[in-house]
Amino acid sequence: MFELEDHIRENIKKLKPYSSARSEFKGNGSVFLDANENSYGSPLNETFNRYPDPLQWELKEKISKIKGVPPQNIFLGNGSDEAIDLLFRIFCNPAKDNVIVCPPTYGMYEVSAAINDISIIKVPLHSSFHLDVEGILESQNSYSKLLFICSPNNPTGNSFHLEEVELLIQKFKGIVVIDEAYINYSKQQSFIRLLPEYENLVVLQTFSKAWGLAGLRVGMAYASELIIDYLNKVKPPYNINQASQQLLLNALDNLDWVNTHIKSTIKERELLKEEIKQLSFAEKIYESDANFILVKFQNASLLYSFLIEKGIVVRDRSNVALCEGCLRITIGTQEENQLLLETLKSFI
Ligand SMILES: *Cc1c(COP(=O)(O)O)cnc(C)c1O
Repeated sequence: MFELEDHIRENIKKLKPYSSARSEFKGNGSVFLDANENSYGSPLNETFNRYPDPLQWELKEKISKIKGVPPQNIFLGNGSDEAIDLLFRIFCNPAKDNVIVCPPTYGMYEVSAAINDISIIKVPLHSSFHLDVEGILESQNSYSKLLFICSPNNPTGNSFHLEEVELLIQKFKGIVVIDEAYINYSKQQSFIRLLPEYENLVVLQTFSKAWGLAGLRVGMAYASELIIDYLNKVKPPYNINQASQQLLLNALDNLDWVNTHIKSTIKERELLKEEIKQLSFAEKIYESDANFILVKFQNASLLYSFLIEKGIVVRDRSNVALCEGCLRITIGTQEENQLLLETLKSFI
């Protein structure tokens, strides 16, 4: 039996969260003199003089309708990076606990671990870029609190097998965090449908990729109400600012825009793959379920510098284990991809 309370740090269990003016008074006042805000307004036209809703309920209601997850199972963070950091602070005792990651993968898990003084157990992917399920289960110990699985994975681009991930959710003793930053581009279903079944599951998504809102800094975590309550307890009271909340509310009315551009991105991704395949110095193009492709080139570092000279910036992953000789290329607009291809063709 999984008992969440057994996994929470003692100091966090005991924590009395900060009580803001807005969380202490929730009625319908007309004169607000409780939060030391500026009643005269602000130099801007918008009403930014008031503190934003600490729990962003209006946003969560709207997200709930799109994602089919109840609002009380949604946490909103200042990017999903904030949710990652908070998970460390809630579950991992510094200098004592560890987390498991499966490289090559997103770098923030390791950085967040280091900031929180948590050691990291690395169970590399197989050379096929699939999960070493046995290796993960064998390397967990009683101090392993989090397992990070990024699917579709950055930088490899592939999604992991659903059955393997679900097996890990069942067998891992701690919390399994599935990072779905690229799920909108994937053929696979999201793991949010399994939330009612597993109390040790956290699914991360973000508005930074398919929604095109990296600049607003909003990411979400979906989990049991118990876990969401801890995330809310530990987060800074006003972690999503008013401007981001308002702009995101507007953006959420434009699901069609998002779906249209997901389709174009996927179409462009497949075209770009076909074209790159024709290049003599392209050794391998990996299957991608995301808005980027990983390509193994002869002389990758030289090619990287050549592209930079022409003003085209891709990500050099050639020094990353299992990605030797690889560049990670984000899918751009049709024009950008065309320019990239022409430039690649001029590389000798
Ligand atoms: C881009 C990305 C994110 C997004 O992080 P935000 O803080 O929400 O912008 C999360 N996880 C992975 C794997 C990513 O590649």
